[in-house]
Amino acid sequence: MTKEIKVGNIYIGGTNPVTVQSMTNTKTEDKENTLKQICRLSEAGADLVRIAVPTVAAAGAVKYLVQNSPVPLIADIHYDYRLAIKCAENGISKIRINPGNISNKENLKKLVEVLKDKDIPVRIGINGGSLEKDIEKIYGNTAEALVISAIRNAGIFEELGFSKICLSVKSSDVLKTIEAYRLLSKKCDYPLHIGITETGILSKGIIKSSVGVGALLSEGIGDTVRISLTGDPVNEVETAVEILRCLQLKEKGIEIISCPTCGRTEIDVKGISEKIYDECKKINKKLKIAVMGCCVNGIGEAGDADFGVAGGKKESIIFYKGNKIKTCPNDEILKELLNLVEISN
Ligand code: SF4
Repeated sequence: MTKEIKVGNIYIGGTNPVTVQSMTNTKTEDKENTLKQICRLSEAGADLVRIAVPTVAAAGAVKYLVQNSPVPLIADIHYDYRLAIKCAENGISKIRINPGNISNKENLKKLVEVLKDKDIPVRIGINGGSLEKDIEKIYGNTAEALVISAIRNAGIFEELGFSKICLSVKSSDVLKTIEAYRLLSKKCDYPLHIGITETGILSKGIIKSSVGVGALLSEGIGDTVRISLTGDPVNEVETAVEILRCLQLKEKGIEIISCPTCGRTEIDVKGISEKIYDECKKINKKLKIAVMGCCVNGIGEAGDADFGVAGGKKESIIFYKGNKIKTCPNDEILKELLNLVEISN
């Protein structure tokens, strides 16, 4: 079992549920738009949100964001330890740095003193694209190299008496990432932040992430998840939540079971499914709704749904726990299902 760290009011590691995090893609200096995005991510199910802090102005904005954010914030720092200190002073809940930040021992010492004083944990994020030269020279750009770098850098913090550490060893190569986390989980008990990095456009990225993150979580590896997707980060949170739900690591929320459609389909399965999902995705209750295109296989195949519809020519069957409760005209299916959602909620 991994160690537990506290990030704001959230616990990561140990026996705690796997948390979901994402990262804003607004300019952090633009406080209002960044806060809006943080709130959207939180509403979608993010437990934590990371913000990039590349400038003094961004570090200054941290104070306002921390005061107004509904979830703990993590500052992503590259190159300048002073920005990390400024974020710590401004109330950030966690710092993410990569080894490039800790090449100067004296500067790292100053940062660690502040982190200890304010009880702020650190994620040391190792990426395939920024491995230390000496490690890459011996081990190449391999899973083993990622792990050696992570352990080495965690050791530097430990030597300074700091152990509130979370580690990540990401690569855009799914198999390499899986191998790296498997190795790392055998070598240490730090909580692990998992994800596949730079996965590309939405549809491909969701698949790469689901395969990689899903494989790791199914083996019990991973304490916090970030799905990296190009575009609106809300997609990252929705994907992460869905992966957790598929693996029964998260129970609450709506699940739509919809048939693939075929020559027997009588209703707009895709349209109805999408509309119900959009209307109900914020519901914080476990609910399984089925949208089946016909009555031939519909009710039987959706037997484990809480309720649903099986399409007919002009009228469709509304069923509840596998039993028909009524029929309704096809243009009233959505209304009937939303009504049942309201009753169940
Ligand atoms: S539920 Fe009916 S419409 Fe949907 S795929 Fe099965 S047979 Fe076809």
